[in-house]
Amino acid sequence: HSAAKPPPTPSPLRFSKFFQPNMRILVTGGAGFIGSHLVDKLMENEKNEVIVADNYFTGTKDNLKKWIGHPRFELIRHDVTEPLLVEVDQIYHLACPASPIFYKYNPVKTIKTNVIGTLNMLGLAKRVGARILLTSTSEVYGDPLVHPQDESYWGNVNPIGVRSCYDEGKRVAETLMFDYHRQHGIEIRVARIFNTYGPRMNIDDGRVVSNFIAQAVRGEPLTVQAPGTQTRSFCYVSDMVDGLIRLMEGEHTGPINLGNPGEFTMMELAETIKELINPNVAISSVENTPDDPRQRKPDITKAKELLGWEPKIKLHDGLPLMEGDFRTRLGKPRTN
Ligand code: NAD
Ligand code: UDP
Ligand code: UDP
Repeated sequence: HSAAKPPPTPSPLRFSKFFQPNMRILVTGGAGFIGSHLVDKLMENEKNEVIVADNYFTGTKDNLKKWIGHPRFELIRHDVTEPLLVEVDQIYHLACPASPIFYKYNPVKTIKTNVIGTLNMLGLAKRVGARILLTSTSEVYGDPLVHPQDESYWGNVNPIGVRSCYDEGKRVAETLMFDYHRQHGIEIRVARIFNTYGPRMNIDDGRVVSNFIAQAVRGEPLTVQAPGTQTRSFCYVSDMVDGLIRLMEGEHTGPINLGNPGEFTMMELAETIKELINPNVAISSVENTPDDPRQRKPDITKAKELLGWEPKIKLHDGLPLMEGDFRTRLGKPRTN
């Protein structure tokens, strides 16, 4: 028998006190709307290397085109319902369609993405010792009976409705995050994101802000789903990205609400967009979809106290920033 091999000598470079290795960050769903803005922000830091894993269901390479070929950036076509082997320090787990028309299109796939996808990313986090952040949603509060919603509210969700694949999927994803944390000591962060808007939203995404802006730019009637008195609170995407990074870098697991507390009815939103973008368009009332939450507004006390975060951009200022992007993509420049 030969003597046992001595342990390998650590690389002097890696262990030198002068050597600060780059931070390797995985962003799942990084080709989507919020994910691509997050990637832009992370790439600004020269110490970050960013890997995006996306199956392009609702996202596109176009959103990341300025980074393709960059030495600190890598894009992988990957479905998170399959295992993924990469070596990273942090995981921002966003992969999941967010617009009702897309998450209802293949509800079973939406559940798999939320449950198996999150399980795989937690398994990855466990293997490599990475910190992982989940982008959960205000939809975990369902059609809320408490207003505004704070994180201690358990929600009012229909378990068998057409939105349940998303709502219940995200609720299980949150449960998995906390079970991996308690059982395996994984470092977790859970953000509950409220409605977010901004440039790069899919034009045919089906969400209300993108629908109304595209309609106003095209000169088509703004389709307010009945009754029009239902409310939402809209956060501009740069504020959201700032909140996500603060949560990841901070010391608190969450769940923490991230959203803009300014609350509007859908009729008010239509009137604001009409006034700002095209005073000549009509506003029409159309049928709603089942289980539409009647009110939604975040209580962001926790985000303010624990992360020192609050949104800076008001709806009135954010909508015009989105208009330019939509006009360019729709080939309809402003005429006046
Ligand atoms: P998005 O649809 O633009 O982005 C989602 C991305 O995930 C897309 O690039 C899509 O191709 C990718 N994806 C979907 N399924 C996948 C799979 N199985 N494997 C790999 N990639 C997959 O949506 P978004 O608005 O950028 O939302 C990002 C995250 O934020 C989602 O987790 C969503 O639930 C959450 N969120 C968003 C909002 C909002 O208002 N935008 C609100 C609450 C929560
Ligand atoms: N997993 C992954 N990448 C890794 C490690 C794990 O995708 O680097 C997946 C793995 O395929 C499994 C899941 O994560 O389906 C959960 O992994 P865990 O180790 O927690 O559980 P187990 O493999 O024991 O079921
Ligand atoms: N909505 C609307 N017109 C549209 C699309 C949506 O009035 O063209 C309404 C919808 O009924 C809901 C709100 O806008 O009350 C927000 O819907 P969205 O799909 O943007 O997001 P949700 O918050 O429901 O996930």
